[in-house]
Amino acid sequence: MTGRGELHPETLAAQGLGRVTEKHREIVSPIHVATTYERAADGSFPGGRIYSRADNPTYDTPEALIAALEHARAALLFSSGQAAAGAVFQALAPGDAALAPRNMYWAFRKWLLEFAAPRGLRLELYENASLDDLAKKARSLKPRVIWVETPANPTWDVTDIAAAAALAREAGGVLAVDNTVGTPMLTRPIDLGAAIVMHSATKYLNGHSDVVAGALATAADDEAWQRIRYVRGAGGAVLGPFEAWLLLRGMRTLHVRVAAACANAMAIAQRLEGHERLSHVLYPGLASHPGHAVAVRQMHGGFGGMLSLRFREGEQAAKDFTARLRVFKRATSLGSVESLAEHRASVEGPGTTCPTDLVRLSVGIEHADDLIGDLLQALG
Ligand SMILES: *Cc1c(COP(=O)(O)O)cnc(C)c1O
Repeated sequence: MTGRGELHPETLAAQGLGRVTEKHREIVSPIHVATTYERAADGSFPGGRIYSRADNPTYDTPEALIAALEHARAALLFSSGQAAAGAVFQALAPGDAALAPRNMYWAFRKWLLEFAAPRGLRLELYENASLDDLAKKARSLKPRVIWVETPANPTWDVTDIAAAAALAREAGGVLAVDNTVGTPMLTRPIDLGAAIVMHSATKYLNGHSDVVAGALATAADDEAWQRIRYVRGAGGAVLGPFEAWLLLRGMRTLHVRVAAACANAMAIAQRLEGHERLSHVLYPGLASHPGHAVAVRQMHGGFGGMLSLRFREGEQAAKDFTARLRVFKRATSLGSVESLAEHRASVEGPGTTCPTDLVRLSVGIEHADDLIGDLLQALG
């Protein structure tokens, strides 16, 4: 990171690290499409690359940018957020233990419970917002990994990252944080003691609903990280070069998009809190949210663009509300420039722990008045 240490994250993002390639002095990094690289006559690889399932030069700048933003030693891109998160657990040994929160991105909880656990992961779930529960389970299970998602889907429970990192260390393991919703613009888990940070880069990092990608960043270039690198290269969950290039392009506006989404989400949360049809407006930026005090401590510059509404009249009222939206699009996913709304329980399907009266909003960067007007007309 020599020479960039004094630059702000906004500058690093906007300039895509400011790297200019030697020959043509291009301001935008090129896309490298080659799958294979020539050997010298003596059998060596003078270009430093062998085959693109292991690595691709198009990854270099986006990986270095993610590492710089996360205050990490290194980062790796993956073909999706699920592949990135899965790699952390695939790098463990059979019989190793892990703790994950009860509320978290549903598809990954499902993978842990239905795929990883039957294949030898000793998994227990803890209550997101209860450090006591986490401490008790960490002390008895001695997990290799404590997984934290904060703010966590779909109620935006906040977990104290520094306290969870201390518990992981005490138990002889490490803390891994899904920072998809927080983004490195608001939360830097490694500064708070995490060993690994994971992103669904499909969401805020790319930010335009046109790339599926994942990333991991690490505090240390250690043996565990080398195992994760092996999982990517051997498992083959690699990102295409065009997607890696688009991701870098998306990240150049990360700070602007995140700031706009935070401001819009706060305006919406404040306007809708106390609405007669809503039992809860769940947003960590509201003093009424149970995680607000911890969020104030570990999030800087905003509380994110995600919030959820719970309807007093129950499931049908929540579904009818989404049917009446005109500006918000009815779609799953989050973290993009356009605002999305979904009846979350029906997306998660059988086994969901999501309240059935809950609508999840991913707030984009449109004009706040258009978004608030749409929500109010749909509330009737
Ligand atoms: C979307 C998401 C994931 C999974 O990422 P994909 O890129 O869809 O595979 C994991 N965690 C969170 C918080 C997410 O929003």
